Amino acid sequence: MNRKDRFQFCINYFQEVMPAPETELHFTNTYQLLVAVILSAQCTDKRVNMHTPALFEKYPDIPSLAAANYDDVFALVKSISFPGNKSRHLLGMAKLVIEKFNGEIPMTVEELVQLPGVGRKTANVITSVVDNQPNMAVDTHVHRVSARIGLTVNAKTPLQTELQLMKYVPAEVVPKFHHWLILHGRYTCIARKPKCEQCGLQPVCVYFQKVMRKQITPAS
Ligand code: SF4
Repeated sequence: MNRKDRFQFCINYFQEVMPAPETELHFTNTYQLLVAVILSAQCTDKRVNMHTPALFEKYPDIPSLAAANYDDVFALVKSISFPGNKSRHLLGMAKLVIEKFNGEIPMTVEELVQLPGVGRKTANVITSVVDNQPNMAVDTHVHRVSARIGLTVNAKTPLQTELQLMKYVPAEVVPKFHHWLILHGRYTCIARKPKCEQCGLQPVCVYFQKVMRKQITPAS
């Protein structure tokens, strides 16, 4: 099977089993999504969701967050990984949005990555979720699952994964594709032991084919 067909199989499969995938972070506007994504780096969405309601109540928008005190923000995010850095990033992000972007969260990847705590992955998430832009956010799940299935070949970095995926995924499918691979990686193709027996991608998955070959080839 060639790569184009493998991609098409995955798109058809996910379209059927997850027709409307969404981020599991809780948010009601762009500001809340940006804050939640910054907090979610190396932390679970579940944990972030436990702490953002209080944060959003105290700091409901960019101006209130920009005027916040470091210790007060830290107290609200202290149970999330790297609370010190993330508190600094949140304050720095809000201040820069006011100083450089007139208080409006920018909506291009090039502008978003200028904000503290916002890397390419976060900028891709924001622009694709909020504005449906065809930007592929690659996190650890997307990187791992793409390689296992054989959607990417020898991709060493998230950027290499992103560029390979973007070659094959139609622009209108990109925002969904990112969520599909994250959710698939979180619940089925998990890092330590993928649940291949529950997975409909077996017929096209390079990893699964290799495992099966090993099982039926007698050791010499
Ligand atoms: S068959 Fe197994 S390794 Fe392949 S995508 Fe499915 S769960 Fe992951």
